[in-house]
This record gives sequence, structure tokens and C-alpha cells, in this order.
Amino acid sequence: MKNRIAIIGGGGLGVCTALELANHGYDVHLFEESKALITKASFANEGKIHLGLVYALDTHFQTAKEMIRGALHFMSYLKRWIEVNPEDILSTPYYYLNHTNSLLKGKQLLNYYQSCQSLFKEAASHYNKRYLDLFDRLDVVELNDDAYEFEHFNSDWVESLYKTNEYAVEVRKIATLLRAAIMEQEKVSVCLNTKITNIKSIKNHFKLTLATGIERRNEQFDLVINASWNGRLELDRQLGIIPPYPWSYRYKLATRLISRFKEGDLPSVTIVQGPYGDIVNFKDCGMYFSWYPIGRMGWSEDLRPPPWDEKFDHSTRLAISKMSFQELSKIIPVLNNLSFDDKLIDPVGGVIFALGNEDVNVVRSRLHTRYDIGIQSTGNYHTVNTGKYTLIPLLAVELASRVMS
Ligand SMILES: Cc1cc2nc3c(=O)[nH]c(=O)nc-3n(C[C@H](O)[C@H](O)[C@H](O)COP(=O)(O)OP(=O)(O)OC[C@H]3O[C@@H](n4cnc5c(N)ncnc54)[C@H](O)[C@@H]3O)c2cc1C
Repeated sequence: MKNRIAIIGGGGLGVCTALELANHGYDVHLFEESKALITKASFANEGKIHLGLVYALDTHFQTAKEMIRGALHFMSYLKRWIEVNPEDILSTPYYYLNHTNSLLKGKQLLNYYQSCQSLFKEAASHYNKRYLDLFDRLDVVELNDDAYEFEHFNSDWVESLYKTNEYAVEVRKIATLLRAAIMEQEKVSVCLNTKITNIKSIKNHFKLTLATGIERRNEQFDLVINASWNGRLELDRQLGIIPPYPWSYRYKLATRLISRFKEGDLPSVTIVQGPYGDIVNFKDCGMYFSWYPIGRMGWSEDLRPPPWDEKFDHSTRLAISKMSFQELSKIIPVLNNLSFDDKLIDPVGGVIFALGNEDVNVVRSRLHTRYDIGIQSTGNYHTVNTGKYTLIPLLAVELASRVMS
């Protein structure tokens, strides 16, 4: 058994990996630079458990395969660490709305979706798993424009419309449960407000520099897992590891409306294919929305992106949220029926790391793919490009099995 294990980054991936290793009897040190666990991308994200449908510009289906693999394992693996009833955390199912200015035609989308259905069928039978522990198949139905669902949408912006059984999960509830699980786990020592600033490989171990406020100290570990998402490349680079292609970090504003909705109040919708947005109805847990052309507030190709969370104050975020809502309401007029107080608007943002440095309005952009992701191991150093929230439980279990082997 490895003596000292460090996990850098207490987001979704770091926490799930720590829990999995602890379940196998390992002592783990988990370092998080902020004051609490799971407050960054794994808290701010939309929670869609992807089945590949968004990645229709990856014509080789590599992203779809990767997402389906993650999605099929998501719920059953999450249950290794927390007690969760899928039905308590699911959104309403997604519609896919192909925008009139989309990068793809409806026919192309439908062909792609049908291939995703076949890939899902193969993978579900291979792994003997159900999506979210509930669904045996991926449903995608193209709706005729006389379908009652069209009433939700402004037909000026709809090239085609699809009803699916893809869902999002309530990431905030999951974060609360995971935080509680880790606090109860004696084998995990959690160091908050502790940033790892330096890493050096010396013979068979690693020297990490821990920064807590103005204090600095060094500690040695036998094995290191870098699960620090926005901080990952900066540390990797110190060990000579660099990504195979140019990359980018984006800061995306993602608003939660903390209110109760009924299933029929608003649909959950992803608008494709290009720089558009989403709304998600989480029923009793509120709603999520984001509109990419306004909500993509930051772009960086540096090793580490700027501290965007600190850069944008609440009033700037609120203004962006309101503008995003207005833009979405033009396409989904049913949103105009909702009224809410500013106090209910929670405009959080999160960093998205991806290989590729051309934005999503460009067809050839690598940002339309997520297959060069996952674990890269160099001896006892494991660095992980999580890629998507969808993949967290699967990657956590795979990481632990690498450590054990
Ligand atoms: C707005 C938005 C919407 C998204 N929607 C979806 C979606 O619908 N579905 C989906 O599958 N994915 C989605 N994603 C992507 C998903 O959120 C991420 O892929 C995933 O959460 C990354 O998890 P993580 O644990 O690697 O990173 P994080 O949750 O960000 O955790 C990394 C942690 O490392 C800490 N850290 C960084 N550097 C250091 C350091 N040097 N020392 C110590 N700690 C450090 C950070 O503070 C952070 O807490 C979305 C992302 C965003 C931002």
C-alpha cells in the first residue's frame, strides 16, 4: 500500500476519488485552495449527464462514446459514496432545439442522434447498466411543428425540435451529500485554504509546497493525484507535462433561480448547434439558465486562468443574468410568465477547461469535442482532465484502481 497519497483539488473529482480510496483502506490528504469543498466547477455546472447529443460536431462519435460510458456509470458509482435516490435529484427531460442559425441542419442532427441511440444500446448492454439507474434506452423523437410542445417556443428561432430522455442532476444536492460523506470519513484528511503552489519529483517521491495564507511549507508524498481543473496545467508543467494541443479556459456565468417550479412551468432545453444556451427545470430545486454569447465572460489560454470568481462583482453578474434571461425569453417565450425577485437569482460562474482555442461558433473548433480527456499517469503522478461532470464518478473509480495496481 502506498504510504502518503495527496489529492490536489477538492472539487467533485478530488472528493469522489478520496472517498473511493478511503473505502479501499487508503489514507488520503486532500488539498483545496478555497475555504470549502466543491464550490467551483462541480458546483456551478448545469448537471447534465451527457449522452453525447450536444457533441454532434464530433462526427467520429468519440465524444459521444466517452459521455455515454460516463453517464451509464454515473449514478451507480455515485451510490458507492452517498445515499441518493435518482428521482429526487433529476431535472425534467431535455428538449433539443436546433436554432435557425445552427451550424448543423436538422437532418444532420437526426442522423447523429440516431447513431447515439445505437451507441447507447451497445454500451448499456456491454456494461449492463441503465442511464441514471432508470433508463434502458436513449429516446430521441423529432417533433412536428403541430406538436403541443411547440407552444413553448418562438418558431422564428426553431429549425427543428427533439424530445429526449436526457436529464440533468441537481449538483448542489450532490455536493452537500459528498461534503458530509467526506467529513465522516476518518481516512481522509481535508486541508482547506491550502493551495499547492509547487511540485517537485525527487527520486521515489514528490515534494509539494503548501501555501496557507502567507505561510509556506513543504511536505513529501509517495503518490500524487492532480484533480485541480483550473490549476492543473500550472502544476503539470513543473513536472514537464503539457497538453498535446492548444487549450483554453472559459469562464461561464450560470444562473440558478432559487424558487419552486412545477414540471409544466418551463421545459428543460438545450439550444444547439453553436453559441447558444440552456434552461433546466429542477422543479422544487429551482431552475438553471445560461446564454453563451453573454455568459461567456472570460477566455484565457494561459497555464492558469485569472481569478475570475473574484473579478466579477455581484451587480455585474446580476446584470449578465438578466440579459441572458431576456435573450432566452425571445426563443422560449414561456419564460416571460415567470416572475421572481432579484433575491432569488444566484449568478454563479465556473471555469471550463478544454483542448482547443477556437470558440464554438467555428465548426472545426476542438471545443465541440471532449475525448482527449481522462487520466494521464507518469509513475506515481496522475493528472486528470475531468472533461465533464458526467465523467466524475467513473474517473474516480478508475483512478483508485490505478493507485491500487
Ligand atoms: C457553467 C458550467 C456548466 C457546465 N455544465 C456541465 C454539464 O451540464 N454537464 C457536465 O457533465 N459538465 C458540465 N460542466 C463541466 C464540469 O463542471 C467540469 O468538467 C467538472 O465539474 C470538473 O470537476 P473537477 O473536480 O475536475 O473541477 P472543480 O470542481 O473545479 O474542482 C477543482 C478544485 O481544485 C481546486 N484547486 C485548483 N487549483 C488548486 C491548487 N493549486 N491547490 C489546491 N486546490 C486547487 C479548485 O479550487 C477546485 O475546488 C460545466 C462547467 C461549467 C463551468
